[in-house]
Amino acid sequence: MIETEKIENCSLIAGPCSAESRTQVLECAVSLAKQGVKVFRAGVWKPRTRPGNFEGAGEPALEWLKEVKTQTGMKVTTEVANARHVEAALKAGIDILWIGARTTTSPFAVQEVADALRGTDIPVLVKNPINAELELWIGAFERLAGAGIKRMAAIHRGFSSYYERVYRYSPEWQIPIELRRRIPGLQVICDPSHMAGRSEMVPHLAQMALDMKTDGLFIEVHPNPSQALSDNMQQLTPAQFSDMMGKLVFHREPEPADIKFMEPYRSRLSDIDLQLIQDLADRFHVTGSIGEYKNLHNLAILQPERYNAISDILTQKGKELGLDEDFIRLLFETIHAESIRCQINKKNTI
Ligand code: PEP
Ligand code: MN
Repeated sequence: MIETEKIENCSLIAGPCSAESRTQVLECAVSLAKQGVKVFRAGVWKPRTRPGNFEGAGEPALEWLKEVKTQTGMKVTTEVANARHVEAALKAGIDILWIGARTTTSPFAVQEVADALRGTDIPVLVKNPINAELELWIGAFERLAGAGIKRMAAIHRGFSSYYERVYRYSPEWQIPIELRRRIPGLQVICDPSHMAGRSEMVPHLAQMALDMKTDGLFIEVHPNPSQALSDNMQQLTPAQFSDMMGKLVFHREPEPADIKFMEPYRSRLSDIDLQLIQDLADRFHVTGSIGEYKNLHNLAILQPERYNAISDILTQKGKELGLDEDFIRLLFETIHAESIRCQINKKNTI
């Protein structure tokens, strides 16, 4: 069980992808401080997928972040990927550190960062690993917790996928939902900028994140995005950021009257869910009986014609009932895979 403590003021973090120059950093920070942002982000060391791109201004940029603190009173956060980064960031008085998506994929790198943090109590944000693997994300929190770090939060920034075309990184909302279940009490902040990959889609994803009850937003803002040295397509101008913040719908906590209204619906949903489980159990009992017959009579477990036919019938029925076709196919695929697993298990116990 990982024990975490809340990080203050992380409901809104904004700033450029990279700290590029003193002027760019301060111009951006001043405009965000005026808009009430309490934590300023800027990458000092930039992990680039391909070499030859801007890799960050490095240690001199820490001085610019120090100036942001004194000039605006905002707290500052930057990415660290190794012990040398941690040491320099701590020395410069950076308030919050974040571990980037590429680093979270590497247990060696995360362990190195965790070891370098031992004995400090600085808050750490952990971006999801670039690949959709929840265990790696959880592993990073375990390594940090093992080094005594308590104030931790997750940043959901989307997952790499070869086929994804709509977003730069696919949100896979179910993964942060499962993360919250596995680490109760952990704050999960959403980074719609990296998910979207294009500035015009950032507000839409930010709203989706609020609808999913995110604990905060982590947004890239640059005074002149088209000239940015990294992630130039996805950064908002300070004016676009202000426009977005004005339009986002921030949800309130449900009050007794809301709960009273939803109660009959929820109770009906609980009944349906229980019935679904009962139906599934019945289904697998029947599958078990057929499995035994197939075994005794030397028949293959998988009968592809039957599988295809049922999948088509169910998808068609789902369509008639207004359900999503892909969802029904996927659901049946999952149920069928479990039937096969049960039948194989049975065979092995005979
Ligand atoms: C960033 O926040 O600029 C960054 C490098 O993010 P990620 O690690 O999510 O790609
Ligand atoms: Mn970026």
